[in-house]
Amino acid sequence: MATKTKKANISKPEVKQIANGVHHQSMFDAVLARLDKATHLINLSKDVASVLRNPERQVIVSLPVKMDDGSMRVFEGFRIVHNTAIGPSKGGIRYAMDVDLDEVKALSAWMTFKCSIANIPYGGAKGGIKCDPRTLSLGELERLTKAYTVAMADVFGVDKDIPAPDMGTGKKEMAWLVDAFSKVKRHYEPGVVTGKPLTLGGSEGREAATGRGVMVAALEAMKVTGLNRKTATIAVQGFGNVGLHAARLMHQNKLKVVAISDHTAAFHNPKGIDIPNAVKHAQNNGGVLKGFKGGKEINKEDIVTLDVDVFAPCAIQNVITAANAPRIKAKIIVEGANGPTTAEADEILANKKIVVVPDVLANGGGVTVSYYEWVQNRCGDYWTEAEVAAKQDASMIKAFENVWFNAKQYKTNMRIGAYITALKRLEKAINYRGFY
Ligand code: GLU
Repeated sequence: MATKTKKANISKPEVKQIANGVHHQSMFDAVLARLDKATHLINLSKDVASVLRNPERQVIVSLPVKMDDGSMRVFEGFRIVHNTAIGPSKGGIRYAMDVDLDEVKALSAWMTFKCSIANIPYGGAKGGIKCDPRTLSLGELERLTKAYTVAMADVFGVDKDIPAPDMGTGKKEMAWLVDAFSKVKRHYEPGVVTGKPLTLGGSEGREAATGRGVMVAALEAMKVTGLNRKTATIAVQGFGNVGLHAARLMHQNKLKVVAISDHTAAFHNPKGIDIPNAVKHAQNNGGVLKGFKGGKEINKEDIVTLDVDVFAPCAIQNVITAANAPRIKAKIIVEGANGPTTAEADEILANKKIVVVPDVLANGGGVTVSYYEWVQNRCGDYWTEAEVAAKQDASMIKAFENVWFNAKQYKTNMRIGAYITALKRLEKAINYRGFY
Protein backbone atom coordinates (compact mmCIF):
# COMPACT_ATOMS: atom_id res chain seq x y z
CA MET A 1 0.00 0.00 0.00
CA ALA A 2 1.22 3.51 -0.72
CA THR A 3 2.08 5.42 2.41
CA LYS A 4 -0.24 8.15 3.50
CA THR A 5 2.53 10.39 4.69
CA LYS A 6 3.87 11.34 1.26
CA LYS A 7 2.07 14.48 0.26
CA ALA A 8 1.07 15.17 -3.32
CA ASN A 9 2.51 18.15 -5.14
CA ILE A 10 0.17 21.07 -5.29
CA SER A 11 0.15 22.39 -8.82
CA LYS A 12 -0.62 25.94 -9.80
CA PRO A 13 -3.58 26.03 -12.18
CA GLU A 14 -2.42 27.11 -15.60
CA VAL A 15 -4.02 30.31 -16.82
CA LYS A 16 -4.34 30.71 -20.55
CA GLN A 17 -4.69 33.95 -22.43
CA ILE A 18 -7.29 33.74 -25.13
CA ALA A 19 -7.70 35.97 -28.16
CA ASN A 20 -9.95 38.65 -26.70
CA GLY A 21 -7.62 39.25 -23.78
CA VAL A 22 -9.80 37.44 -21.23
CA HIS A 23 -7.90 35.13 -18.89
CA HIS A 24 -9.36 31.73 -19.19
CA GLN A 25 -8.49 28.74 -17.05
CA SER A 26 -8.52 25.41 -18.88
CA MET A 27 -11.31 23.15 -17.62
CA PHE A 28 -8.97 20.29 -16.81
CA ASP A 29 -6.68 22.65 -14.90
CA ALA A 30 -9.70 23.76 -12.90
CA VAL A 31 -10.36 20.10 -12.04
CA LEU A 32 -6.73 19.65 -10.97
CA ALA A 33 -6.86 22.78 -8.81
CA ARG A 34 -9.81 21.39 -6.87
CA LEU A 35 -8.33 17.90 -6.77
CA ASP A 36 -5.15 19.34 -5.28
CA LYS A 37 -7.09 21.17 -2.62
CA ALA A 38 -8.93 18.03 -1.49
CA THR A 39 -5.73 15.96 -1.81
CA HIS A 40 -3.97 18.34 0.51
CA LEU A 41 -6.77 18.41 3.09
CA ILE A 42 -6.95 14.62 3.48
CA ASN A 43 -3.24 14.07 2.95
CA LEU A 44 -3.90 11.73 0.04
CA SER A 45 -0.97 9.59 -1.01
CA LYS A 46 1.19 11.04 -3.78
CA ASP A 47 0.83 7.86 -5.83
CA VAL A 48 -2.97 7.92 -5.79
CA ALA A 49 -2.99 11.63 -6.59
CA SER A 50 -0.71 11.07 -9.60
CA VAL A 51 -2.94 8.30 -10.90
CA LEU A 52 -5.99 10.57 -10.73
CA ARG A 53 -4.22 13.54 -12.31
CA ASN A 54 -3.60 11.52 -15.49
CA PRO A 55 -6.40 9.94 -17.55
CA GLU A 56 -5.83 6.24 -18.30
CA ARG A 57 -6.57 6.41 -22.00
CA GLN A 58 -7.18 9.20 -24.52
CA VAL A 59 -8.49 8.34 -27.97
CA ILE A 60 -8.94 10.85 -30.79
CA VAL A 61 -10.48 9.75 -34.08
CA SER A 62 -11.22 11.36 -37.45
CA LEU A 63 -14.65 10.50 -38.77
CA PRO A 64 -15.28 10.97 -42.49
CA VAL A 65 -19.05 11.31 -43.05
CA LYS A 66 -21.05 11.56 -46.27
CA MET A 67 -23.24 14.67 -46.08
CA ASP A 68 -26.72 14.84 -47.63
CA ASP A 69 -25.49 17.10 -50.46
CA GLY A 70 -22.98 14.44 -51.56
CA SER A 71 -19.96 16.18 -50.05
CA MET A 72 -17.75 14.54 -47.41
CA ARG A 73 -16.84 16.08 -44.05
CA VAL A 74 -14.33 14.87 -41.50
CA PHE A 75 -15.39 15.25 -37.86
CA GLU A 76 -13.16 14.95 -34.82
CA GLY A 77 -14.25 12.49 -32.11
CA PHE A 78 -12.90 11.88 -28.61
CA ARG A 79 -13.22 9.28 -25.88
CA ILE A 80 -11.27 9.62 -22.67
CA VAL A 81 -11.22 6.90 -20.07
CA HIS A 82 -10.15 8.71 -16.94
CA ASN A 83 -10.05 5.91 -14.38
CA THR A 84 -11.25 2.31 -13.97
CA ALA A 85 -10.13 1.52 -10.41
CA ILE A 86 -13.68 0.97 -9.15
CA GLY A 87 -15.14 -0.64 -12.27
CA PRO A 88 -15.74 -0.19 -16.01
CA SER A 89 -15.64 3.43 -17.07
CA LYS A 90 -18.91 5.29 -17.52
CA GLY A 91 -19.87 8.60 -19.03
CA GLY A 92 -21.79 10.39 -21.74
CA ILE A 93 -21.05 11.48 -25.29
CA ARG A 94 -21.40 15.17 -26.08
CA TYR A 95 -22.09 16.75 -29.47
CA ALA A 96 -21.08 20.42 -29.41
CA MET A 97 -18.81 22.84 -31.23
CA ASP A 98 -16.62 23.55 -28.18
CA VAL A 99 -15.77 19.86 -27.63
CA ASP A 100 -11.99 19.49 -27.38
CA LEU A 101 -9.45 17.35 -25.57
CA ASP A 102 -9.27 19.64 -22.53
CA GLU A 103 -13.05 19.74 -22.04
CA VAL A 104 -13.49 15.98 -22.48
CA LYS A 105 -10.60 15.32 -20.08
CA ALA A 106 -12.23 17.48 -17.41
CA LEU A 107 -15.64 15.86 -17.95
CA SER A 108 -14.11 12.37 -17.79
CA ALA A 109 -12.44 13.11 -14.44
CA TRP A 110 -15.73 14.45 -13.07
CA MET A 111 -17.38 11.16 -14.06
CA THR A 112 -14.82 9.23 -11.98
CA PHE A 113 -15.61 11.42 -8.97
CA LYS A 114 -19.36 11.39 -9.65
CA CYS A 115 -19.56 7.58 -9.75
CA SER A 116 -17.46 7.31 -6.62
CA ILE A 117 -19.68 9.78 -4.74
CA ALA A 118 -22.85 8.02 -5.94
CA ASN A 119 -21.31 4.77 -4.67
CA ILE A 120 -21.84 2.89 -7.93
CA PRO A 121 -19.27 0.37 -9.24
CA TYR A 122 -17.99 2.43 -12.14
CA GLY A 123 -14.97 4.46 -13.12
CA GLY A 124 -15.24 7.56 -15.27
CA ALA A 125 -15.04 8.41 -18.97
CA LYS A 126 -16.40 10.94 -21.42
CA GLY A 127 -16.70 11.21 -25.17
CA GLY A 128 -17.58 13.86 -27.66
CA ILE A 129 -17.73 14.91 -31.27
CA LYS A 130 -16.93 18.44 -32.34
CA CYS A 131 -20.08 19.31 -34.30
CA ASP A 132 -23.23 21.39 -34.16
CA PRO A 133 -26.00 18.76 -34.05
CA ARG A 134 -28.65 21.42 -34.75
CA THR A 135 -27.25 21.92 -38.24
CA LEU A 136 -27.08 18.21 -39.13
CA SER A 137 -29.92 16.22 -40.69
CA LEU A 138 -31.21 13.03 -39.08
CA GLY A 139 -29.37 10.96 -41.69
CA GLU A 140 -26.09 12.83 -41.15
CA LEU A 141 -26.42 12.42 -37.38
CA GLU A 142 -27.02 8.69 -37.76
CA ARG A 143 -24.00 8.21 -40.04
CA LEU A 144 -21.82 10.33 -37.74
CA THR A 145 -22.91 8.40 -34.62
CA LYS A 146 -22.35 5.03 -36.29
CA ALA A 147 -18.94 6.10 -37.65
CA TYR A 148 -17.95 7.16 -34.13
CA THR A 149 -19.19 3.87 -32.63
CA VAL A 150 -17.28 1.76 -35.15
CA ALA A 151 -14.14 3.84 -34.55
CA MET A 152 -14.52 3.34 -30.77
CA ALA A 153 -15.64 -0.31 -30.91
CA ASP A 154 -12.50 -1.46 -29.09
CA VAL A 155 -12.86 1.18 -26.39
CA PHE A 156 -16.53 0.52 -25.57
CA GLY A 157 -17.75 -2.68 -23.92
CA VAL A 158 -20.37 -3.78 -21.43
CA ASP A 159 -17.64 -4.54 -18.87
CA LYS A 160 -15.19 -2.02 -20.25
CA ASP A 161 -16.54 1.43 -21.08
CA ILE A 162 -20.23 2.28 -21.18
CA PRO A 163 -21.35 5.51 -22.90
CA ALA A 164 -24.60 7.43 -22.36
CA PRO A 165 -26.25 10.68 -23.50
CA ASP A 166 -24.83 14.10 -22.67
CA MET A 167 -25.25 17.59 -24.17
CA GLY A 168 -26.55 17.34 -27.74
CA THR A 169 -27.29 13.60 -27.61
CA GLY A 170 -30.23 11.52 -26.41
CA LYS A 171 -31.96 8.19 -26.79
CA LYS A 172 -31.93 8.18 -30.60
CA GLU A 173 -28.12 8.45 -30.72
CA MET A 174 -27.88 5.70 -28.07
CA ALA A 175 -30.11 3.46 -30.20
CA TRP A 176 -27.81 4.00 -33.24
CA LEU A 177 -24.83 3.23 -31.03
CA VAL A 178 -26.35 -0.11 -29.89
CA ASP A 179 -27.07 -0.98 -33.51
CA ALA A 180 -23.57 -0.19 -34.83
CA PHE A 181 -21.81 -1.78 -31.85
CA SER A 182 -23.94 -4.97 -32.05
CA LYS A 183 -23.15 -5.25 -35.77
CA VAL A 184 -19.42 -4.92 -35.18
CA LYS A 185 -19.49 -7.50 -32.37
CA ARG A 186 -21.94 -9.77 -34.23
CA HIS A 187 -24.25 -10.15 -31.25
CA TYR A 188 -26.87 -7.90 -29.64
CA GLU A 189 -25.32 -5.96 -26.77
CA PRO A 190 -27.78 -3.43 -25.28
CA GLY A 191 -25.80 -3.14 -22.01
CA VAL A 192 -22.93 -1.39 -23.80
CA VAL A 193 -24.75 1.93 -23.56
CA THR A 194 -27.36 3.50 -21.27
CA GLY A 195 -30.01 6.14 -21.87
CA LYS A 196 -31.56 3.94 -24.56
CA PRO A 197 -35.22 4.03 -25.64
CA LEU A 198 -37.40 1.76 -23.47
CA THR A 199 -38.00 -0.66 -26.35
CA LEU A 200 -34.27 -1.31 -26.65
CA GLY A 201 -33.74 -2.01 -22.95
CA GLY A 202 -33.81 1.52 -21.56
CA SER A 203 -34.86 2.09 -17.96
CA GLU A 204 -38.00 3.71 -16.67
CA GLY A 205 -37.08 7.04 -15.13
CA ARG A 206 -33.72 7.41 -16.92
CA GLU A 207 -34.66 10.43 -19.03
CA ALA A 208 -35.85 12.44 -16.02
CA ALA A 209 -33.21 11.05 -13.65
CA THR A 210 -30.69 13.91 -13.71
CA GLY A 211 -33.43 16.51 -13.19
CA ARG A 212 -34.99 14.40 -10.45
CA GLY A 213 -31.64 14.22 -8.66
CA VAL A 214 -31.26 18.00 -8.92
CA MET A 215 -34.64 18.41 -7.21
CA VAL A 216 -33.76 15.97 -4.41
CA ALA A 217 -30.37 17.67 -3.92
CA ALA A 218 -32.11 21.06 -3.74
CA LEU A 219 -34.52 19.74 -1.10
CA GLU A 220 -31.65 18.32 0.96
CA ALA A 221 -29.78 21.62 0.70
CA MET A 222 -32.90 23.49 1.87
CA LYS A 223 -33.08 21.17 4.89
CA VAL A 224 -29.48 21.76 5.99
CA THR A 225 -29.68 25.52 5.44
CA GLY A 226 -33.11 25.88 7.06
CA LEU A 227 -34.86 27.28 3.98
CA ASN A 228 -38.62 26.75 3.89
CA ARG A 229 -39.40 24.54 0.88
CA LYS A 230 -42.90 25.99 0.57
CA THR A 231 -41.77 29.58 0.15
CA ALA A 232 -38.23 29.34 -1.22
CA THR A 233 -37.99 30.78 -4.76
CA ILE A 234 -36.07 28.88 -7.43
CA ALA A 235 -34.54 29.84 -10.79
CA VAL A 236 -33.64 27.09 -13.26
CA GLN A 237 -31.23 27.87 -16.09
CA GLY A 238 -31.55 25.50 -19.06
CA PHE A 239 -34.63 23.74 -20.37
CA GLY A 240 -33.06 20.65 -21.91
CA ASN A 241 -32.93 17.15 -20.50
CA VAL A 242 -31.74 18.34 -17.08
CA GLY A 243 -33.45 21.72 -16.55
CA LEU A 244 -36.82 20.76 -17.99
CA HIS A 245 -37.25 17.72 -15.76
CA ALA A 246 -35.80 19.51 -12.72
CA ALA A 247 -38.31 22.38 -13.14
CA ARG A 248 -41.18 20.00 -13.96
CA LEU A 249 -40.57 17.79 -10.90
CA MET A 250 -40.01 20.79 -8.61
CA HIS A 251 -43.34 22.21 -9.78
CA GLN A 252 -45.02 18.82 -9.33
CA ASN A 253 -43.66 18.70 -5.77
CA LYS A 254 -45.07 22.17 -4.99
CA LEU A 255 -41.75 24.02 -5.03
CA LYS A 256 -41.83 27.58 -6.35
CA VAL A 257 -39.97 27.92 -9.65
CA VAL A 258 -40.07 31.65 -10.46
CA ALA A 259 -37.63 31.81 -13.39
CA ILE A 260 -36.61 29.58 -16.29
CA SER A 261 -34.39 30.05 -19.31
CA ASP A 262 -32.78 28.33 -22.28
CA HIS A 263 -30.39 29.44 -25.04
CA THR A 264 -33.21 31.42 -26.70
CA ALA A 265 -34.89 33.34 -23.83
CA ALA A 266 -35.40 33.78 -20.06
CA PHE A 267 -38.60 34.43 -18.11
CA HIS A 268 -39.36 35.61 -14.57
CA ASN A 269 -42.67 35.40 -12.75
CA PRO A 270 -42.51 36.14 -8.99
CA LYS A 271 -45.83 34.31 -8.47
CA GLY A 272 -44.37 31.11 -9.90
CA ILE A 273 -44.09 29.87 -13.47
CA ASP A 274 -46.66 27.43 -14.79
CA ILE A 275 -44.07 24.80 -15.74
CA PRO A 276 -46.44 22.32 -17.48
CA ASN A 277 -47.41 25.24 -19.71
CA ALA A 278 -43.75 26.05 -20.43
CA VAL A 279 -43.10 22.38 -21.28
CA LYS A 280 -46.07 22.46 -23.67
CA HIS A 281 -44.77 25.68 -25.22
CA ALA A 282 -41.33 24.15 -25.81
CA GLN A 283 -42.87 20.99 -27.28
CA ASN A 284 -44.87 23.04 -29.76
CA ASN A 285 -42.04 25.44 -30.65
CA GLY A 286 -39.09 23.31 -31.71
CA GLY A 287 -38.01 22.58 -28.14
CA VAL A 288 -37.31 26.20 -27.19
CA LEU A 289 -38.79 28.72 -24.73
CA LYS A 290 -38.70 31.73 -27.07
CA GLY A 291 -42.16 33.30 -27.26
CA PHE A 292 -43.36 31.84 -23.93
CA LYS A 293 -46.00 34.08 -22.35
CA GLY A 294 -45.99 32.86 -18.72
CA GLY A 295 -43.65 35.51 -17.30
CA LYS A 296 -41.77 38.72 -17.93
CA GLU A 297 -38.93 38.25 -20.42
CA ILE A 298 -35.55 39.12 -18.89
CA ASN A 299 -31.97 39.08 -20.20
CA LYS A 300 -30.73 35.51 -20.42
CA GLU A 301 -27.59 36.32 -18.40
CA ASP A 302 -29.64 37.94 -15.62
CA ILE A 303 -31.10 34.64 -14.44
CA VAL A 304 -27.73 33.95 -12.76
CA THR A 305 -27.97 37.00 -10.48
CA LEU A 306 -31.75 37.05 -9.98
CA ASP A 307 -33.07 37.66 -6.45
CA VAL A 308 -34.06 34.07 -5.64
CA ASP A 309 -33.28 31.61 -2.84
CA VAL A 310 -32.09 28.74 -5.02
CA PHE A 311 -30.35 28.91 -8.40
CA ALA A 312 -30.00 25.71 -10.44
CA PRO A 313 -27.66 26.13 -13.44
CA CYS A 314 -28.68 23.20 -15.66
CA ALA A 315 -27.34 24.29 -19.05
CA ILE A 316 -23.66 24.68 -19.87
CA GLN A 317 -20.29 25.14 -18.18
CA ASN A 318 -18.67 28.35 -16.91
CA VAL A 319 -21.83 30.43 -16.38
CA ILE A 320 -20.89 31.47 -12.82
CA THR A 321 -17.65 33.40 -13.12
CA ALA A 322 -15.55 35.85 -11.12
CA ALA A 323 -17.43 38.58 -13.03
CA ASN A 324 -20.97 37.73 -11.91
CA ALA A 325 -20.38 35.73 -8.68
CA PRO A 326 -20.18 38.89 -6.50
CA ARG A 327 -23.73 39.81 -7.62
CA ILE A 328 -25.33 36.40 -6.98
CA LYS A 329 -28.19 36.60 -4.49
CA ALA A 330 -29.21 32.94 -4.19
CA LYS A 331 -28.43 31.23 -0.88
CA ILE A 332 -28.15 27.82 -2.50
CA ILE A 333 -26.73 26.84 -5.90
CA VAL A 334 -27.51 23.35 -7.20
CA GLU A 335 -25.32 22.46 -10.17
CA GLY A 336 -27.38 20.43 -12.64
CA ALA A 337 -24.87 21.16 -15.43
CA ASN A 338 -21.29 19.90 -15.43
CA GLY A 339 -18.82 22.63 -14.48
CA PRO A 340 -21.12 25.68 -14.33
CA THR A 341 -18.88 27.44 -11.77
CA THR A 342 -15.28 28.46 -12.48
CA ALA A 343 -12.62 27.81 -9.83
CA GLU A 344 -12.24 31.58 -9.23
CA ALA A 345 -15.98 31.97 -8.71
CA ASP A 346 -15.91 29.13 -6.15
CA GLU A 347 -13.84 31.26 -3.79
CA ILE A 348 -16.21 34.22 -4.11
CA LEU A 349 -19.27 32.06 -3.44
CA ALA A 350 -17.57 30.45 -0.43
CA ASN A 351 -16.79 33.90 1.03
CA LYS A 352 -20.43 34.87 0.54
CA LYS A 353 -21.42 31.70 2.47
CA ILE A 354 -23.49 30.46 -0.45
CA VAL A 355 -24.05 26.71 -0.25
CA VAL A 356 -23.02 25.20 -3.59
CA VAL A 357 -24.19 21.64 -4.17
CA PRO A 358 -21.52 20.67 -6.71
CA ASP A 359 -22.14 19.02 -10.08
CA VAL A 360 -20.42 15.77 -9.13
CA LEU A 361 -23.09 15.32 -6.45
CA ALA A 362 -26.10 17.26 -7.75
CA ASN A 363 -26.27 15.79 -11.25
CA GLY A 364 -25.27 12.26 -10.24
CA GLY A 365 -28.88 11.07 -10.61
CA GLY A 366 -28.33 10.50 -14.33
CA VAL A 367 -25.45 8.10 -14.01
CA THR A 368 -27.08 6.43 -11.00
CA VAL A 369 -30.11 5.45 -13.07
CA SER A 370 -27.74 4.56 -15.94
CA TYR A 371 -26.28 2.02 -13.54
CA TYR A 372 -29.79 0.71 -12.80
CA GLU A 373 -30.38 0.42 -16.56
CA TRP A 374 -27.16 -1.58 -16.98
CA VAL A 375 -28.10 -3.86 -14.05
CA GLN A 376 -31.57 -4.43 -15.56
CA ASN A 377 -30.01 -5.26 -18.97
CA ARG A 378 -27.68 -7.76 -17.37
CA CYS A 379 -30.26 -9.57 -15.25
CA GLY A 380 -33.16 -9.24 -17.70
CA ASP A 381 -35.52 -8.09 -14.95
CA TYR A 382 -37.14 -4.67 -15.44
CA TRP A 383 -38.25 -2.29 -12.68
CA THR A 384 -41.16 0.13 -12.45
CA GLU A 385 -40.69 3.90 -12.51
CA ALA A 386 -41.63 4.06 -8.82
CA GLU A 387 -39.00 1.43 -7.94
CA VAL A 388 -36.32 3.31 -9.86
CA ALA A 389 -37.29 6.65 -8.29
CA ALA A 390 -37.31 5.24 -4.74
CA LYS A 391 -33.82 3.70 -5.18
CA GLN A 392 -32.50 6.84 -6.83
CA ASP A 393 -33.81 9.19 -4.14
CA ALA A 394 -32.38 7.07 -1.32
CA SER A 395 -29.03 7.00 -3.10
CA MET A 396 -28.94 10.80 -3.60
CA ILE A 397 -29.88 11.47 0.03
CA LYS A 398 -27.10 9.16 1.25
CA ALA A 399 -24.54 10.76 -1.10
CA PHE A 400 -25.61 14.25 0.01
CA GLU A 401 -25.18 13.25 3.67
CA ASN A 402 -21.69 11.83 3.02
CA VAL A 403 -20.57 14.98 1.20
CA TRP A 404 -22.07 17.27 3.85
CA PHE A 405 -20.38 15.24 6.60
CA ASN A 406 -16.96 15.43 4.89
CA ALA A 407 -17.34 19.15 4.20
CA LYS A 408 -18.07 19.75 7.89
CA GLN A 409 -15.37 17.40 9.14
CA TYR A 410 -12.68 19.03 7.00
CA LYS A 411 -14.13 22.55 7.48
CA THR A 412 -14.50 23.16 3.76
CA ASN A 413 -17.20 23.80 1.18
CA MET A 414 -19.41 21.10 -0.37
CA ARG A 415 -17.39 20.94 -3.61
CA ILE A 416 -14.20 20.03 -1.82
CA GLY A 417 -16.27 17.84 0.53
CA ALA A 418 -17.49 16.01 -2.58
CA TYR A 419 -13.96 15.55 -3.92
CA ILE A 420 -12.91 14.25 -0.50
CA THR A 421 -15.82 11.77 -0.50
CA ALA A 422 -14.79 10.59 -3.97
CA LEU A 423 -11.08 10.40 -3.17
CA LYS A 424 -11.52 8.33 -0.01
CA ARG A 425 -13.27 5.56 -1.94
CA LEU A 426 -10.93 5.81 -4.93
CA GLU A 427 -7.85 5.69 -2.72
CA LYS A 428 -9.05 2.44 -1.15
CA ALA A 429 -9.77 0.85 -4.53
CA ILE A 430 -6.49 1.98 -6.10
CA ASN A 431 -4.44 0.79 -3.15
CA TYR A 432 -6.24 -2.57 -2.89
CA ARG A 433 -5.56 -3.22 -6.56
CA GLY A 434 -1.97 -2.10 -6.28
CA PHE A 435 0.58 -1.12 -8.92
CA TYR A 436 3.10 -3.01 -11.04
N1 GLU B 1 -23.85 12.54 -19.23
C1 GLU B 1 -24.38 12.32 -17.91
C2 GLU B 1 -23.44 12.90 -16.88
O1 GLU B 1 -22.66 13.78 -17.15
C3 GLU B 1 -24.75 10.87 -17.68
C4 GLU B 1 -23.63 9.89 -17.77
C5 GLU B 1 -24.10 8.44 -17.72
O2 GLU B 1 -25.25 8.17 -17.49
O3 GLU B 1 -23.23 7.59 -17.93
O4 GLU B 1 -23.50 12.54 -15.73
